[in-house]
Amino acid sequence: MERRSWIVGRITENFKLKAKLSTLVEHKGIRFKIARMKAVRFHEHGAPSVLKLDDVPRPQPGDNEVLINVKACSVNHLDIWIRKGIPGMKTNLPHIPGSDAAGIVAETGKGVQGFKTGDRVLINPSLCCGQCEFCSEGNGSLCLSYSIYGEHQDGTYCEYIAVPHQNVLKIPDSLDFIKAAAAPLVYLTAWRMMVTKTKVKPSDCILIFSAAAGVGIACLQIAKLVGATVIATSSSDQKCEFLKKMGADYVFNHSKEDTVRKVRDITSKRGVDIVVDYIGKETWLKGIYSLKRGGCVVTCGATSGYNPEEDLRHIFYRQVRIYGSTMGSNKEFSDAMTLVLGGKLIPHVDSVLRIDEAVKAHEMIEQREVIGKIVLSI
Ligand SMILES: [Zn+2]
Repeated sequence: MERRSWIVGRITENFKLKAKLSTLVEHKGIRFKIARMKAVRFHEHGAPSVLKLDDVPRPQPGDNEVLINVKACSVNHLDIWIRKGIPGMKTNLPHIPGSDAAGIVAETGKGVQGFKTGDRVLINPSLCCGQCEFCSEGNGSLCLSYSIYGEHQDGTYCEYIAVPHQNVLKIPDSLDFIKAAAAPLVYLTAWRMMVTKTKVKPSDCILIFSAAAGVGIACLQIAKLVGATVIATSSSDQKCEFLKKMGADYVFNHSKEDTVRKVRDITSKRGVDIVVDYIGKETWLKGIYSLKRGGCVVTCGATSGYNPEEDLRHIFYRQVRIYGSTMGSNKEFSDAMTLVLGGKLIPHVDSVLRIDEAVKAHEMIEQREVIGKIVLSI
């Protein structure tokens, strides 16, 4: 399938057009009208200041694709890693970051069923083949051709994005674009961690490090929905107060308290059933030491570093299980979004900034000033 958006992009490149809202070009006797849009891109890896608001060709929907007029997109820690550059991973530059988006269907491509212009929607940020051995067994995020908007291809910090109709979900009028854009990546990630991997149950006690982050709040909400007991930590007293209000059963500041001793006190020396860790180097061993015999730790990231100290004695002797987890399958997305759309899981939005304030949004996340999510309105 040859995408018209690709043709339009190539023509723009060939004719070296200056940015205009709409431009007519002629190629091999055919006249094309090129619609334009605003998009935040980076042309080189680096500090938040590399993010620029550019004028770029507007994509057009290919077969089975829906063109979405993006009303809001949200910022994830993934966007920070991609902007800085992940060692060993090549990003085509310039690149549009962003995995989450909510907006209105602007146009539908050939073969699209179930959507019409004007529908309010959000997108599933992940793409998998649906046919390989991993997809067949329901592990879409292990797919050999797995990709994420904003990571392996251009993302959602833009006015329009064309995505396969299988990746689009209608949202009710009761869910505003801001909250809808804050939901997909963090709830998909948290759902796989809590429901598929650790199989959280009401009798479980869970330790979540730095739980005021977007994924942490989502894990906390899912665990509480199941009826489990949650111990949540943060390095800030203000965030600890917030976590109490979010329903955490025990909360403490891990920069002031001894995490392992505190968990032993709370659990009467037993330890927790599940540790949720996306901090990495700073918290990894504390998490392992806080587990009960036979407990499990689930990791989906490492914001403080990838190479923590390890103590294998505590893993084999106490028979601890370690789960890696990333994103999720279409089924996991559908299950998580059913609860978001039904109002059972509600994203916490810290701030709403304009799309031209993407630099500030990245700075706020890097300085750990954020509770929950930052959303960019467009
Ligand atoms: Zn696959």
